[in-house]
Amino acid sequence: MSSIITSISLDEETARISKQIPNFSGFVRDCLRRYWAEVTEPDCMTPDDQKVGGLCRMRKERVCLECWPDGYPRKEDWKIFMHASKPPERELVGIRGYDHPRESSPFMIEARKDPQAWIQSRARFVNVAFDLTGVKIKGNAKPAQKPKKLTAFQRILLGFR
Ligand SMILES: [Zn+2]
Repeated sequence: MSSIITSISLDEETARISKQIPNFSGFVRDCLRRYWAEVTEPDCMTPDDQKVGGLCRMRKERVCLECWPDGYPRKEDWKIFMHASKPPERELVGIRGYDHPRESSPFMIEARKDPQAWIQSRARFVNVAFDLTGVKIKGNAKPAQKPKKLTAFQRILLGFR
């Protein structure tokens, strides 16, 4: 994937915040995708026969917002989901090298009821909600300039008290 370098205008506050985000470009890309998903119909690129329990697998490069509107779940939850989407197997936990989730674990029991609803609620639980309501996206791209404070000397020159 080619990179397109662009520049944005930040103010002091948002510049300070941006320094707290290790991959600022990745953050901006994700915000743009989420914005786009809000204003358009999201499309899943994974064919139905390659999905697990009706959802596409987690990929590094791009979050599918059709399947994962709240972002990806934790890997351990995905593992439970994969097993909950299949018919129950014999209880094999305890056998060396076998680390499938226990059928009797509370998460597994919950996941079995409705695997897709369960995994999406887990994803919602671990991801910070990113509410776009109130985000200003129209108008001038540059942050509003605060009027500069005049020095005492300038104030005297201009006749201010
Ligand atoms: Zn998908």
